[in-house]
Amino acid sequence: MPHDTPLISTIVGGLVLAFIFGAFAHRLRMPPLVGYLIAGVLVGPHTPGYVADQSLAPELAEIGVILLMFGVGLHFSLKDLLSVRGIALPGAIAQIAFATLLGWGLGAVMGWPTGGSLVFGLALSVASTVVLLKALQERRLVETERGRIAVGWLIVEDLTMVLALVLIPAAASIGGGGHAPVEPLSAGLNHLFGLDLGIGAIIAMTLVKVALFVALMLVFGRKLIPWTMHRIAHAGSRELFRLGVLAIALGVAFGAAKLFGVSLALGAFFAGMVLAESELSHRAAQESLPLRDAFAVLFFVSVGMLFDPNILIDRPLPILATVFIIVIGKSVAAFLLVLAFKKPLGTALTISASLGQIGEFSFILAALGVELGLLPQEGRDLVLAGAIISIVLNPLLFFLCDRMRPLLEGPRREETAADPASAADAGTAQEQAAPEDDDVHPTALTGHAILIGYGRVGRIVGQNLKSSGTPFLVIEDSDKRIGELKAQGVEAFMGNAVARETLDLANLSTARSLAIAIPNAFEACRIAEQARSVNPSILIVARAHSDAEVDELKQYGADTVIMGEREIALGMVDRLAQVHHESVSYEDRQEPATIIPTGTASPERE
Ligand code: AMP
Repeated sequence: MPHDTPLISTIVGGLVLAFIFGAFAHRLRMPPLVGYLIAGVLVGPHTPGYVADQSLAPELAEIGVILLMFGVGLHFSLKDLLSVRGIALPGAIAQIAFATLLGWGLGAVMGWPTGGSLVFGLALSVASTVVLLKALQERRLVETERGRIAVGWLIVEDLTMVLALVLIPAAASIGGGGHAPVEPLSAGLNHLFGLDLGIGAIIAMTLVKVALFVALMLVFGRKLIPWTMHRIAHAGSRELFRLGVLAIALGVAFGAAKLFGVSLALGAFFAGMVLAESELSHRAAQESLPLRDAFAVLFFVSVGMLFDPNILIDRPLPILATVFIIVIGKSVAAFLLVLAFKKPLGTALTISASLGQIGEFSFILAALGVELGLLPQEGRDLVLAGAIISIVLNPLLFFLCDRMRPLLEGPRREETAADPASAADAGTAQEQAAPEDDDVHPTALTGHAILIGYGRVGRIVGQNLKSSGTPFLVIEDSDKRIGELKAQGVEAFMGNAVARETLDLANLSTARSLAIAIPNAFEACRIAEQARSVNPSILIVARAHSDAEVDELKQYGADTVIMGEREIALGMVDRLAQVHHESVSYEDRQEPATIIPTGTASPERE
């Protein structure tokens, strides 16, 4: 690999190895991120062979963090954020306090100074944005209530860390505990005002800056950003639109960090949130997806690079204690806190699993602690080892939480768990979201239709089923749509239809038909496959967007597959034919033409 192009070789080396090991991990039925971490260890300085650039990799990873948080912001409105503040704010603060206390205790046992132990504890208290968001996205939980609480919680943690990064150097200089208390902000302020600012003033200054940034975004950004994007969208250049999305995400994040001392992640989150107020947010989210995923992979590679496997042999006990604090201590604390707020058990389990890991902020804090002479080098190594192990264990934690839920909920749930079919399918269900509502009961309907997805397609199907008096129910994973359905008196279940637990609620075995109206064909195949195995005679109608998807869906058991683009074309042909072959004006024929004659149906229809 060329040595004179460190940026290229780091990106290429990181992505290629991550791909190879990620695919390998996937084959072994492990989450791909384990493969990405291993790729990182291999290109890191602690293993022989090629070593990627150690300062570039974490910087590239930051771009992943920015795009991820931007994407989350795009799904969030200010209302969503405020709606979870009642639990996220006290919850996150109490959990940070608890984890810091545990970390401080471990530091004290190891004989570290108090300041160092506190920094260590703080580093263990903050979860990784990337790991948390990836976990939520994989399980399609971002837009659910528990997803929102977890994200709100993360934002409070982020804000606390912004404050901690400013305060630690100041405290070190005041307490005299460190040997290099040079901190840009306080030093700059002292210089500027010619006075020695105390801790109170530094806190106030930081808060003012954060508040100023948020206010600017909410007052001006909220108007300016959607306005700019609308102009670009109307200009008609897709390339410029993509560029605009990236420029806003990265530009706002960077500006927030440089001008206001806000973290890159928070800056990006707010950029996304103000754009979410406009209709274009959906398109913007799509445009940033591929880059986001690629850079998120580099995040894991860069974490892997920091890891020195020798520490596992040299310091097994302290590592065990650190991992225990992160994975068990923090999770149990979060679990109890969420329950104390009278939230359902499923919500408490998801939030505690999401937070049982640490990542990027922890490295920054630990590195700062070492630089200031507060934390011994060993503390930083423990934080790194703890991060890597907790990230690897995180999917397992989600799995355990999914398993624990029926046990904790008692006899009603055990019926579902005892179902041999669902036990056989535990492998697939483990990665998926369970139904959101804790108080759900399977439907009482029989001989009914099951509709999956209530978006542009499902909505029309549902309205037709309703007006024809067909008994039916809907499975949807967006809680906004579920709310809408419930308001209309339609029976609806919240959750990812791929999860066996969700499908079980729909009473598949006695249903007559299943309409899979979701755009993702991979998911649709998994749903069709499960439905067919439970009910061999059910009629399965599915939605596809290419010929390859049609074939795939049929292979997995769909009876009829409607190819969206083909139906659009047929609708157009029909409309054109009416104008060209008959002397009836377009306006006159508008109504009847919206009905596609079944005689012209595509060959995929039977
Ligand atoms: P549209 O593409 O506009 O028809 O929207 C598709 C709808 O299906 C959206 O409302 C999604 O929330 C929903 N959806 C997509 N995938 C799933 C899934 N795996 N389980 C349940 N609902 C889904």
